[in-house]
Amino acid sequence: MIINAIDTHCHIRYAPLEKLKPIPISDIMQEGPCYTAYWEELSQMEKAARISTVFASPIEALVDTADTVQANEDMFRLVQDIPNLYQWVVIDPRNDITFEQADRMLKSKKCVGIKLHPRLHHYTLEEYGEKIFSFAENRSAIVQMHYGKENYVDLADAFPHATFIVAHLGGALHINAVKNAKHRNIYTDTSGMASLKNKLIEYAVSQIGSDRILFGTDTYAAGAQRGRIEYAMIPQEDKENILFNNAKRLFGL
Ligand SMILES: [Zn+2]
Repeated sequence: MIINAIDTHCHIRYAPLEKLKPIPISDIMQEGPCYTAYWEELSQMEKAARISTVFASPIEALVDTADTVQANEDMFRLVQDIPNLYQWVVIDPRNDITFEQADRMLKSKKCVGIKLHPRLHHYTLEEYGEKIFSFAENRSAIVQMHYGKENYVDLADAFPHATFIVAHLGGALHINAVKNAKHRNIYTDTSGMASLKNKLIEYAVSQIGSDRILFGTDTYAAGAQRGRIEYAMIPQEDKENILFNNAKRLFGL
């Protein structure tokens, strides 16, 4: 039986090629011109990998804080026209307009939560955690964040009604965060290439179970990312949880 899948962590670029701003992380990875993330291409890869639903944030909102507000609006419009595409609204904690946008967009069924990228936006959650997570907690919002050196457990314990997704499962940092959150409000996702490490998925499931692991692609090779879960040495039930059931439950789809 083919397991349905929800890609909870994807990104979209939509600016025309000549206007694309470089992504600093992309440079380090030497992706150069091979990296694009246009919906026309992504949706083909997602479809081929039998992924039915995609949650994405616009890369334009992450690369340059001057574009965050506009990109949130663009994304909000885009998801209205594409039934299986949902939005993460990006908050820049130094820009109050992004909080107003989040307040408005989170009321829409097409907005699944808040996206943070402290690394690309150059701030820390030590500094802005209180502001962001009290806002999220008041709205029972789910917050997806690029991982860093923050103490996620202390933050999640202090804001029990916010849900944290510490993205890009890569090892002990993620596993321990999920394991040690008192209120079980930290999740991780398998998006990105770090989850391809030998036995990482198997080890994570052995340590924290499969209930708080979400599937994501981070735009990279949807079929390979799906295969990493589908062919993992874990029980079928865990594969179904990671690929589909956890997201269905958490986001109420
Ligand atoms: Zn991301």
